[in-house]
Amino acid sequence: MSSPVARPLRTLLVANRGEIACRVMRTADRLGMRTVAIHSDADVDALHVRSADLAVRVGPAAARESYLDIEAVLRAARESGADAIHPGYGFLSQNADFADACAVAGIVFVGPGGAAMRAMGRKDEAKALMRAAGVPVVPGWQGEVQDEATLCREAERVGFPLLVKAIAGGGGKGMRVARSLAEVPAAISAARGEAERAFGDGRLLLERYIESPRHVEVQVIADRHGNCLHLYERDCSLQRRYQKVIEECPAPGLSVALRERLHQAAVRAAQAVGYENAGTVEFIVAGEEGWFLEMNTRLQVEHPVTEAVLGIDLVEWQLRVAAGEPLPARPAAPRGHAFEARVYAEDPRNGYLPAGGRVEVLRWPGGAVRVDAAVEQGDRVVTDYDALLAKVIVHGSSREAALRELEVALLASRVEGVTTNLAALVALSRDADFRAGRMTTGLIDARGDALLPDHAAQCGRAAGLAAIALLTPTAGAALDPWAATDGWRVQGPGETEVRFMLPGVEKPLVVVAPLAGTPGLADGAIAGNEPPVEVAVLPDEVRVWLDGEFFRLARVAKGTPAEAMGGGGQVLAPMPGAVLDIKVTEGSQVERGQPLVVLEAMKMEHTLRAAVAGRVTAVDVRAGQRVREGERLLSIEGEAAG
Ligand code: ADP
Ligand code: ADP
Ligand code: MG
Repeated sequence: MSSPVARPLRTLLVANRGEIACRVMRTADRLGMRTVAIHSDADVDALHVRSADLAVRVGPAAARESYLDIEAVLRAARESGADAIHPGYGFLSQNADFADACAVAGIVFVGPGGAAMRAMGRKDEAKALMRAAGVPVVPGWQGEVQDEATLCREAERVGFPLLVKAIAGGGGKGMRVARSLAEVPAAISAARGEAERAFGDGRLLLERYIESPRHVEVQVIADRHGNCLHLYERDCSLQRRYQKVIEECPAPGLSVALRERLHQAAVRAAQAVGYENAGTVEFIVAGEEGWFLEMNTRLQVEHPVTEAVLGIDLVEWQLRVAAGEPLPARPAAPRGHAFEARVYAEDPRNGYLPAGGRVEVLRWPGGAVRVDAAVEQGDRVVTDYDALLAKVIVHGSSREAALRELEVALLASRVEGVTTNLAALVALSRDADFRAGRMTTGLIDARGDALLPDHAAQCGRAAGLAAIALLTPTAGAALDPWAATDGWRVQGPGETEVRFMLPGVEKPLVVVAPLAGTPGLADGAIAGNEPPVEVAVLPDEVRVWLDGEFFRLARVAKGTPAEAMGGGGQVLAPMPGAVLDIKVTEGSQVERGQPLVVLEAMKMEHTLRAAVAGRVTAVDVRAGQRVREGERLLSIEGEAAG
């Protein structure tokens, strides 16, 4: 490890990309440091590259050959004269060999030493260490013998429901639940396969699966002068497939005793491995019990909620500790409440499939809302890496106030050109159980498709609002047609009729307006709708933002038969990937929603489904074939819509 004498850091290389690279560089800039970005070929024009004083290419798009290439990253550090490397999260941030290699190269690694990282790196070893340090761990089994018969025998001993978990796991990968012995072999092979692909290590451990728990984690930070502080806790129970979606600080509704126990256990955990710098100790909480899950030996995605309530900059603390300075005094207890919502480039209405494309319009809420974004308007979202587009962070005097801020901030956010989960975040911010603080890690999965309002109904509302905007000479006078009790209806008799086509919807939407409105252009928010809905009228289309969702409604001349609208469609690859399976052949008759093609992209399998009912007229690809984003996979001729 480096000398105990404080040495100011002058040039910081950030070995990461996206929002976290930009965020780390902001603090480094403020502290007067020179910043160096690294990038792959996919990120030549990325925001993090533009944000740095200097940018160095480290390799091709594949992470393994660029952001994960230790030699290439160290070469970039030497060439740019960096005296420190901040690893961000993901990529090399928890790679002990990388931390060691930095030390050997005489470069300060902004994080713990390789030994502490190694001790916490494997979930089985970390649990054994914590048990010895008197920290409660989730009951279960771990061992060297990894054959199926042994795992099945031990599974019975641990009991059901059971979680099969990769010891090298991270990012929610390599975990499967088994509810009975019969389900264990399948859980083993699925978890093992995923772990081998993601971490190159298929070894597993078994844990009692805690039903409906909460995820509570404690932020810690330690210096090399023997100080180790906890910086309170965060609740990260809102998860989808073990990945956090909305986080908050402090964790609501914990008893004073449990909270204290978690804080102290976290400090004990850090001290047990001689920890230095910032880290997070994760616990699973049920009732009055809290068990150690793992320690993340890095800065976490959700660190801003802690910063918001404590009024500190954790990256500044990290850099100071890494430079050898002692920690500042412990901050006062959390002030108010903070939430973070993760805006992902993905489509919640289509199995949360990652989405790419060019960000045509980007607008974030103003005021006191903090947004840590990976892109600016005009940037391309690449699908080679993490789908995290931005984090929206709000603070309020109470949990209720902060939650209101969150909903308003999400409704004021606009991303056009790339599909995001904003609508799902809006829906979550309104969820009654979440509002009441009754969230568990299973809440989002339990809501399933019901999380979002019915698509057809939202399309109808959007069309009604678009018609109002078209027919009302001045914006502001009209009301939401679906809130009004008289007049507006869809496909009824009336005076004025407006027809719209929505992407992916086979029939035109017909809005009938019984009032004698003078057609005119109206832009802006429609008053009387709470929360506000935004409508923009363009020559050929109307754009509507409703509940966090963006609708593009193309105007259609009155009387145009629906069949002429091209009710069918082409199925295009939403991202680059490999075709794993084709479920239909030329001539197949398909129903709306029927699986068509299975695509492997971003290490996950995605099923593409038919947007319309009809007949498959052409299949353009074979199983095993690699496809580009936007490449045509097959064509469907839609059934004549009546
Ligand atoms: P990762 O390294 O992927 O973050 P963790 O062990 O931290 O893996 O677990 C991630 C999430 O999975 C937790 O936040 C929790 O929601 C769920 N989880 C993990 N272990 C258990 C368990 N034993 N019972 C119930 N849920 C669990
Ligand atoms: P946090 O716990 O800080 O919220 P996440 O679990 O969401 O972090 O992970 C942050 C990023 O790091 C994600 O892109 C995730 O896929 C990645 N990641 C986390 N742990 C690992 C790991 N052990 N190996 C590879 N990637 C990881
Ligand atoms: Mg975890």
